[in-house]
Amino acid sequence: MDKILEIKNLTTGFYIENNFYNVLNKINLEFEKGKIHALAGESGCGKSAFVNTILKLLPKNAKITSGEILFQEQNLLDIKEKDFNKIRGTKIFLIPQDPFMSLDPLYKIENQLMEINSIKDKNKEEAKKIITNALEEVKIQNIDNVLKSYPHELSGGMKQRVIIAMALISNAELILADEPTTALDVSVSNSILDLLVELKNKNKTILLITHDLSIVYNYCDTATIMYLGDIVEKATSKELFKNPKHPYTKALLAALPTKKGKKLENIKGQISPITQVISGCKFHPRCQYTQEICVKNVPLLEKCNSREVACWLVK
Ligand code: SF4
Repeated sequence: MDKILEIKNLTTGFYIENNFYNVLNKINLEFEKGKIHALAGESGCGKSAFVNTILKLLPKNAKITSGEILFQEQNLLDIKEKDFNKIRGTKIFLIPQDPFMSLDPLYKIENQLMEINSIKDKNKEEAKKIITNALEEVKIQNIDNVLKSYPHELSGGMKQRVIIAMALISNAELILADEPTTALDVSVSNSILDLLVELKNKNKTILLITHDLSIVYNYCDTATIMYLGDIVEKATSKELFKNPKHPYTKALLAALPTKKGKKLENIKGQISPITQVISGCKFHPRCQYTQEICVKNVPLLEKCNSREVACWLVK
């Protein structure tokens, strides 16, 4: 496997009122180059904490207490902040849920694109050519108008296309897309997801954070399901849909709308706050198969044929 990112034993937590609570627990993951990898789960599962740990964009009360983040075999945790700025936004690029977060409201789109590190030292004509090519690749029409616009003058979908063009101009190799379509209409969402597939076809690697398993099925090569900071199931996305093993994965899939008009099933209860300590399997208060062992002992992520699952009932 040609790995671009390898996470080893990664633990991150937050100090809250003098106590420390983990939001990611000893995470081990590998991401193959040129694929779309999904990280899925409900809100509060630790998905965004994972992205922010990779990008070292954690709040002041957070601390990474163990592990390594190997990007192209270099441990990102060993890199000083001033050097990390040469990686963040260039080699590793974030597409946020709200594209407005990545655009400066005070500057026109052209000025912002011209400031991207990879082109800011080029002559104006050459830089403009690269920008125009990137905007064409993300299927923006009326490019001259878009370049003269301020971010607030563009629709949400158009802003997200501009952000993806930024990733192209930056020559990003790893793109972290954190719920990139949540704020968009369905038809616009699909066109943005199609663009991510086009990036993958250019051998870019995408880590797509989502709570929507239909996106995982339709657009992603692999799927990792996270629950309260633990990986509970890892598989190819097709395998996961064909034969989900972990009760949490099954519950997420049962909650998906289907064309057959089947009644949707809600997942019992709610995600617990990180300040609540849960013994054994963290999903046990919501799981319909809970047994005594689940309450007492933590199930480890173990190989189960071609996938990995953390559940006492799956062997
Ligand atoms: Fe449910 Fe037990 Fe499996 Fe946890 S370990 S998911 S509680 S069956």
